[in-house]
Amino acid sequence: MSLARFTRADCETLDQQDSLSALRNQFSLPEGVVYLDGNSLGPLPVATPGRVARTLSEEWGKGLITSWNTAGWLDLPQQVGDKIARLIGAHPGEVVAADSTSINLYKTLSAALNIAADDPRRTAIVSERGNFPTDLYIAQSLCRDRGLALRLVERDELAVALRDDVAVLMLTHIDYRTGAMHDMAALSAQAHEAGILTVWDLAHSAGAVPVDLNVAGADFAVGCGYKYLNGGPGAPAFLWMNPRHADHIRQPLTGWWGHATPFAFTTDYIPAAGINGFQSGTPSILGLAALDCGLDTLLAAEAFGGMTALRQKSLALTSLFMTLVQERLQGHGFEIVTPTDEPLRGSQVSLSRADGAWAIMQALIERGVIGDFRAGDGGQQHDLLRFGFAPLYTSHADVWQAVDQLHQVMQSGQWREPRFAQRRAVT
Ligand SMILES: *Cc1c(COP(=O)(O)O)cnc(C)c1O
Repeated sequence: MSLARFTRADCETLDQQDSLSALRNQFSLPEGVVYLDGNSLGPLPVATPGRVARTLSEEWGKGLITSWNTAGWLDLPQQVGDKIARLIGAHPGEVVAADSTSINLYKTLSAALNIAADDPRRTAIVSERGNFPTDLYIAQSLCRDRGLALRLVERDELAVALRDDVAVLMLTHIDYRTGAMHDMAALSAQAHEAGILTVWDLAHSAGAVPVDLNVAGADFAVGCGYKYLNGGPGAPAFLWMNPRHADHIRQPLTGWWGHATPFAFTTDYIPAAGINGFQSGTPSILGLAALDCGLDTLLAAEAFGGMTALRQKSLALTSLFMTLVQERLQGHGFEIVTPTDEPLRGSQVSLSRADGAWAIMQALIERGVIGDFRAGDGGQQHDLLRFGFAPLYTSHADVWQAVDQLHQVMQSGQWREPRFAQRRAVT
């Protein structure tokens, strides 16, 4: 960065030069709010209420059950999946939108373990100790039921953990706490060299950074519809499998929707070909309609350079935030825990603080800057303030505003007011 400090006017100039800035108009963001929590729940696209209302009143209300055939409901999981595929380096027909990330993890992890079971020496799943809890809980359940070991290691111990008794390496591509990003291609290659399959969770990657699952040679992937894909609260998630596994997978939740011919109502289960065999029950059409609108907001960026251009902007925003934090928040007890090295981070920046992180975030939210809080472990790992910088709708001026307000919260000591100490259920 230059010697001169950044100003608000500099940030406004950057916004004027930003060819992606018009994409923000696709969202109904409340006036006066700086929304930096799209890594947890993406904002409402302008198109979504109309689409969902039409699905309700026209397709359901008037079309009734015929809409499965006439309104495209039947193919919606694949159509939405094909849009997601464009964001994660998958081909058409390789992705399906279904269920939740947790359930999709169960299905893909089981399928990977079923493949690995050909070699009875492979009795462990390796993951990171800091992986998202639901990923660990799902793996714990599978390990318990199958008599396998779950080996949780630190990020820098992963390479040595890839031994020949490991069945599956299960990782979240971008860490939900720190925003640190793995090298998917390198780790997949290392895993494969040791005969290990990989399952990747793209919850904080899809729509946030370019992902190329096929080039990386990953085996399975799942991801979330309501974060950077802007699908709305509880939106359907997605799953992908490398086509090389398509002919010999077995997943455990063999519901009728994953059957080759669900409407033949046969007694015995025959899996649908490829990724469609990973469906279980009837898809949520309302959820898919909203997710479809969320995806369109990302695909609109294809006219401006797509995920590559979004990544450039995301890096510019996260760099700007880190620079401003260093310039303006010295001495206030924050530490940037997100990697400053660009290839090593996703689209969020997290600040740790020994105490007060919850109250500081509450004071910031009251001032219209919405980030969130993640608790540390009460020991070495401090509490975090998380800031997501979704490049589709975040401006450089937003970044300025966030640091400026945080500076005021700290400088005034306002965060110490008792009302900010009160904890809520969702953090
Ligand atoms: C958000 C998130 C999930 C969410 O799982 P759900 O089943 O949708 O609740 C899972 N894994 C990771 C890494 C996440 O960040």
